[in-house]
Amino acid sequence: MRRSAEALAAALADLESKSLRRQRFTATPDGGAYVLRDGRRVVNFCSNDYLGLAQHPALIAAMQASAAHSGAGSGASHLVTGHGSEHEALERELAEFTGRERALLFSTGYMANLGVVSALAERSDLVLEDRLNHASLIDAGLLSRAELQRYAHGDADAAQAALVQFRRTHSSRDGSQSDDRRGALLVTDGVFSMDGDLAPLPALARAAREQDAWLIVDDAHGLGVLGANGGGCLEHFGLGSDDVPVLIGTLGKAFGSFGAFVAGDAALIDWLIQRARTYIYTTALPQPVAAATRAALALMRTEAWRRAKLREHVDHFRERARRRGLALADSAGHQITPIQPIVLGDAQCALDVSAKLLDAGWWVAAIRPPTVPQGSARLRVTLSAAHDAEQIDGLVDALAQACESA
Ligand code: PMP
Repeated sequence: MRRSAEALAAALADLESKSLRRQRFTATPDGGAYVLRDGRRVVNFCSNDYLGLAQHPALIAAMQASAAHSGAGSGASHLVTGHGSEHEALERELAEFTGRERALLFSTGYMANLGVVSALAERSDLVLEDRLNHASLIDAGLLSRAELQRYAHGDADAAQAALVQFRRTHSSRDGSQSDDRRGALLVTDGVFSMDGDLAPLPALARAAREQDAWLIVDDAHGLGVLGANGGGCLEHFGLGSDDVPVLIGTLGKAFGSFGAFVAGDAALIDWLIQRARTYIYTTALPQPVAAATRAALALMRTEAWRRAKLREHVDHFRERARRRGLALADSAGHQITPIQPIVLGDAQCALDVSAKLLDAGWWVAAIRPPTVPQGSARLRVTLSAAHDAEQIDGLVDALAQACESA
């Protein structure tokens, strides 16, 4: 344990010496994809505002109108007096959008993941996760106190084998399943947050069905972006609630606002209301945030051009980057998701390239361990409908130059 200020200072110096110390900068939106970074105007190529909705006048107006009516804070948890009409309406609209019986709002995606996994897993159960799942899902598995296993990234065969092994270990000697049949949760990001690739959801859904496991998909980076209607990874793969009974979405990314939700059948949602501690023991989201999200959802549904533009940007970025000799990620889904990592390996190299880009007016944060595995520091370029083609050209040219001299 680090018990003194001196010990903390030494640990911080150690991080600094390894190029792993994190720093913050103030970002102030300044029109389109521009931000003032500590006062300097640059183009933001590392936000998750994929559809360019965070500054949209309709969201701002909805937030203002709701604040004038319901105030800034909700004053209590949902189960006491914090559940308002905006929350109720948003939950109904999200259920309809995802084609599920019900949806339940959480204050953040982190809390949704902690709450859902620990409400569903009992100590004797298995929580099986992709090795590169988001930190909140890994923490959720740990918090649940169930047996946590991780399988090789994107490897549905490995997931299937782990489920088969779990079933074998816990069946009775004659080969039949024992009475106290243990539960298994198979948990994955839909689009991996730092890699931008897609989970093999059809194969995972098959494995889960065959081995009587529940598949939980966190589609934080797919909802609103993938699928003709923005239905995310599930729409992209043509999967329904029988395949993926528990769907988690976050509202701070393509929705441009804040918060998260879980969608599923009525019994699942009612159970979460009874047992998800990160739902029960926390203050409800401010209603103006829910109102802004409702405005975002309406735009997401009516303005399909935002998704189309984003897809064009992804194509354009990849085409130009390839021509400039940049090493693009090329796994399943990289052709369509807006997360386009340039893996550089060394943390200091990632910081240096990021600094050069910044000098040229492009903000792309360096992502370093422990957010990504050792030796895989990267620039996580994210594209948005708020960008234009010239900005993408400028970024790629600067990236090619910075990488050449790195
Ligand atoms: N899941 C994934 C896959 C994410 O990328 C993130 C955010 N980076 C979260 C959950 C957490 O969501 P929130 O920011 O709403 O806590």
